[in-house]
Formats: sequence, structure tokens, C-alpha cells
Amino acid sequence: MNPSTRTASLAFSLLIAALLPACARITFSTKETTASVSGSADPRRSSPEAALAALKAGNQRFRAGKSTGHHDSIGKAAASAAHQYPVACAFTCADSRTSPEAIFDLGVGELFVCRVAGVASGVNDDASLEYGTAVLGAPLIVVMGHTNCGAMKAAIANKPLPGSLPKLVSQIRPAVEKAGAANPHADSSTLLAAATREQVRTEIRHLMGSPVIRKQVQAGKLKVVGAIYNLEDGSLIWL
Ligand SMILES: [Zn+2]
Repeated sequence: MNPSTRTASLAFSLLIAALLPACARITFSTKETTASVSGSADPRRSSPEAALAALKAGNQRFRAGKSTGHHDSIGKAAASAAHQYPVACAFTCADSRTSPEAIFDLGVGELFVCRVAGVASGVNDDASLEYGTAVLGAPLIVVMGHTNCGAMKAAIANKPLPGSLPKLVSQIRPAVEKAGAANPHADSSTLLAAATREQVRTEIRHLMGSPVIRKQVQAGKLKVVGAIYNLEDGSLIWL
């Protein structure tokens, strides 16, 4: 372990140690005072499989127009003010049409979210997802791309762009090139779909490069799964 990695690891351990006693206290009071937020005993947090089943069920409610996640939002806000027990972490595109709380029908305090265009993570996203899993105990990370993604289309077009956009696009380009090599005769829509799937898989591999996340996965406490959200009908394809 090099010095910077050792320092980061130590800092993370100290952070967890500092938070754990507070978690224990809040677990007790949450059980006493809240009905709308299940707290640390929430069965949806009992395993990665349980969390994934909860998200799939939530998406079915969303698609059926029977969402319940945002009922009593102010009650959930008050109940989760002292501590949070998210069911899962979601890492999604920043696109306004891909709100993960709506798509998975989860309310305040139930989903730990990072969003960036093209699902192109940076170190702060990595750290946030490490925190959401290792400290807050979410047993699932969903990396979610979507159809008709503007960031993916910009990476495919690969034209000059202003500001910080070239940096973002350059991070997506490897997935585009890999998808193009695997689909040399694809039309534009097929290439876009393939590149979007590849970008999600690339981000999953990237997250698995985090020792904090990898150790949880190896211990069976965490799963990292990919999905593509369909803007037209609200459905998900799980990768
Ligand atoms: Zn997008």
C-alpha cells in the first residue's frame, strides 16, 4: 500500500469509527419513533437480492402509475433527519428524464444518489458510493444508463465542444470505441445502444477497482449491477 492509499484508508476507517456509535443510537430512536422509514432493520436492506427486488417492484409500480414512494414525503423527511438508511445507491446520468427516485418509486431517505452526464464517474462519485455502502450500509449499487443519452451521442459524434465538455466526452470515448469495434457495421441507433451498455459496464468495472467496494462485494454484502432505462416506457433492462 503506497502512502497516499494508506492515508486514505486510515481516514476512511476513522470516518466509519466516528459514525458507528451515532448509527447505533439513532437506530434505537428510529425504531421507536418512525413508521414511514423502516431504519436499519428495513428488510429491503437485508441483502443485495432483497434491495434489487425492492427496486424492481418499485419500477413496476412506477410503470403502472401506482407509485407510493413519495407519499408522506415530509413525514419521511422528519423521520430520516437524524440518520439515513438507504435501500440502495444509484449512479445515473444527470438527464432530467432519469430521476432514479421516481423510476424505482423510492422516497426521501431511501435512495443514495450520484448523477453525472453519461454516467462518467469521477473520484468524488467513487467516494460518495463508498460512503453510501460502507458507512450507510446500502447493499446494492445500480449503475444506470438510458436510451437516447445526449452525452453518449456527443461522445459518438466526437466533435469540438466548449468548456469542460471535452473532458467529459473523453471519459466516455473508450466505451464508444469498444462498442464500435464490436459492432463494425452497426447503424447509429444500434451503436448508441451498444455504447451505452458498454459505458455502464465500464463504470461497474471502475467501481470494482475501489478496494472499499470490492471488499464488500467479496464478502457478499454488496452487489454492483447495471441497467439501461428506457425513456419511452419507463422499463429497465438489467445487464
Ligand atoms: Zn444521459
